[in-house]
Amino acid sequence: MTILIRKNQEFTDLLEKNLMSRHEEKRRLDNTVHVSDIIPTTCIRKQYYSRKFPEMCPLSNESVHHFVRGESSEFIITQLADLGVAQAAIEMDGILAHPDIMSDKKNVIVELKDTVNGRRLNFYDCTFRSYLRQLLYYMVMTSIEKGIISIRYNIKELRWVKSDSEGDYFFRPFDAKDVGIESWEVFLPSHDIAREILKNEMVRRKNLFLKALEESDVSILPRLIDDAKRSKCPYCPYYEKCINQDGETYEAQEMAKEIDLLDIGGVVDIETPEGNL
Ligand code: SF4
Repeated sequence: MTILIRKNQEFTDLLEKNLMSRHEEKRRLDNTVHVSDIIPTTCIRKQYYSRKFPEMCPLSNESVHHFVRGESSEFIITQLADLGVAQAAIEMDGILAHPDIMSDKKNVIVELKDTVNGRRLNFYDCTFRSYLRQLLYYMVMTSIEKGIISIRYNIKELRWVKSDSEGDYFFRPFDAKDVGIESWEVFLPSHDIAREILKNEMVRRKNLFLKALEESDVSILPRLIDDAKRSKCPYCPYYEKCINQDGETYEAQEMAKEIDLLDIGGVVDIETPEGNL
């Protein structure tokens, strides 16, 4: 009797080929504006380039696996939460969105996030800010007052030490936070003036994005600045084109420097188990 065990590359290739084409189908190439196109810290210019020059950002194994992890995590957590409709299409002033979970009955909207980043996020992190902005935009579009951001961390906490020409160095502290889920609740009252300000911001950014696409003019879209620039631009596939070839109008530069609503004193009241931030 012999039990034969061999590596089966054929099956892996089949899965990867089908995953790639499933992911490719989700790429946006038309001029429909989605909430994720216009979030300030996500980079509106990168969204422009990915529509106009998709060949400059070919699908990588990493992005396909990120997609699979996100989709599967979202699928199971949506079922576990058992709260409302998943991926309902909503629209406001020509802006489209598909929140992960929406319940009119419970007056709540939920955005699920999944990350392999070892860093734990908080309000002062630009990635957390983009999650929060996305949720606030959904709350404005639906008039729902309560939102939840639920982040699933796939690896134990790691702290950054330094970066050099060889790469990035991290360490894992003895009291590192474990893998798991962290959820944040956000409340925005239905008559709060912040709703109007956020709505104006969304419509302004959508109009600018559409104008850039229609006129094939990226220069009117602001580049990232500060933390978002430091953490995202060096890894951007459009870096050379964006920074060294294409221009940025004076108005776009000024727009990038505008004070974020969430940084204005008194607009946000944030409390954590460690106390007020
Ligand atoms: S280099 Fe930075 S500013 Fe330019 S498109 Fe990429 S992320 Fe945006």
